[in-house]
Amino acid sequence: MTSPKIRVRFAPSPTGELHVGNARTALFNWLFARGSGGAFILRIEDTDQARTTPAFEENLLDDLHWLGIDWDEGPGIGGAWGPYRQSERLALYQDCLQKLILSDRVYPCYCTEAELEAERTDLVVRRMMPRYMGKCRCLTESERRRLGAEGRVPVWRFRVEEGPIRFDDLIRGSMAFQGEAIGDFVIVRSSGMPSYNFAVVIDDHFMEISHVIRGEDHLSNTATQILLFRALGWEPPLFAHHALITGDDHAKLSKRHGAVSVREFRWRGILPEVLLNYLALLGGSFSGVQEIRTAHELCRLFSLNRTGRGGAVFDEEKLLWLNRAYIRRYETENLADKLIPFVRAAGYDALLRERNRLEGIVAAVQDNLMTLADIGGFLDLFADERYRIGEDAAAIILGAEARKALQILRDELFLLTRNCSGDSGTAPLEGAMNQTIFRNLVHAVSEKTGLRGKKLYMPIRAAVTGRLHGPELDRVFALLGTDSLLKRLERALAL
Ligand code: GLU
Repeated sequence: MTSPKIRVRFAPSPTGELHVGNARTALFNWLFARGSGGAFILRIEDTDQARTTPAFEENLLDDLHWLGIDWDEGPGIGGAWGPYRQSERLALYQDCLQKLILSDRVYPCYCTEAELEAERTDLVVRRMMPRYMGKCRCLTESERRRLGAEGRVPVWRFRVEEGPIRFDDLIRGSMAFQGEAIGDFVIVRSSGMPSYNFAVVIDDHFMEISHVIRGEDHLSNTATQILLFRALGWEPPLFAHHALITGDDHAKLSKRHGAVSVREFRWRGILPEVLLNYLALLGGSFSGVQEIRTAHELCRLFSLNRTGRGGAVFDEEKLLWLNRAYIRRYETENLADKLIPFVRAAGYDALLRERNRLEGIVAAVQDNLMTLADIGGFLDLFADERYRIGEDAAAIILGAEARKALQILRDELFLLTRNCSGDSGTAPLEGAMNQTIFRNLVHAVSEKTGLRGKKLYMPIRAAVTGRLHGPELDRVFALLGTDSLLKRLERALAL
């Protein structure tokens, strides 16, 4: 017998920005589909109308595109199993509700929120699992009519039988939940909207999903969903629940740990391929992978079985390290393209019209960039009106030997500009600077002061960049030019 086609889905609810944990779920599904010739479906679970917004949905799709995760069916593409937004599938959920009403697997429940809350509190006091105890389970027709006449609009609850619900999880092995611990759950709200569990089962069935790959926080939902599959007479898909991303305290990764959404990392200047790799590597989903792999290689290496059972600790430093390593490998020209939004965000739009200068700066600072957003700080260094002399740099500049060296450098530079714009008939240099001139200048300062190495270079760096670390000085000189260098030396000497 040939195995049925693999069809997996990512089913986010656009009620917030895409969390890296959810992005990882999307990635696992995508890698599984791409590695097996299956289909990857994107389904928008937007039945929570109060919290869903079009902007969150738009950002979600945009973040997936940015990560390079594409879908075969879903919003913007369509497909034979659509529509792919739950809010557009409401009639289907109503049909399925009718089916369950006819087979008496569900009943209307008229309890108010206050009554349910009182029941929950009572169970907690009695040290029992809070759940619905079935008050409306056996109402007669006339009792239902009376409650309806009071203006109560019912929800629909599923009758959960006692006994174990078992399934084999592809990652976690055999699982069992007890029906009595679940209680009769809501499948359709009083607004007519399906609950998450109900809509998911119907969609997974009609979209012919073969494998449900999602976080282990959905394990108990799976038990509930299996009951619905059976009641509707359908075969459930296979399930695989992966461990969640945690902070270093092993608690689920949340805002209190720092950045958690793809968007935040994106705007902080993490490269998409780096985030993709990092999420794939996290928790040891791949063995022995230490470097950046292409999406194609990740697909080839991915295996559901190997996907870690253990928690995946999110280590931002490692992510930054990977980002830096990858930025260093970029061709300067391509990196400059990637940096455009960050140059703009830092307020240097004008620089975008001077491509050569931009690439010159990028080449100079490339090795110093941890994130793309770091470019802003370096652009300040090259802008006379924004560069500042930091306290540590000032402390160096104020040393007697340093001042001497800076005075000599200023005088040498001054002579250089005079000579070049003299009446020898040659065109003036107009502030130009290159590596040879830089070497000659530093050599002259060294000769006259006897300073070498750090003692020679540090004061110069401190004076012309305002900092103690940064790009190579010869490149800084070339990018600044003599006019700017002179101004900066004067400013340092005036301290
Ligand atoms: N909308 C659900 C969520 O975002 C989907 C869970 C599932 O994959 O079934 O958590």
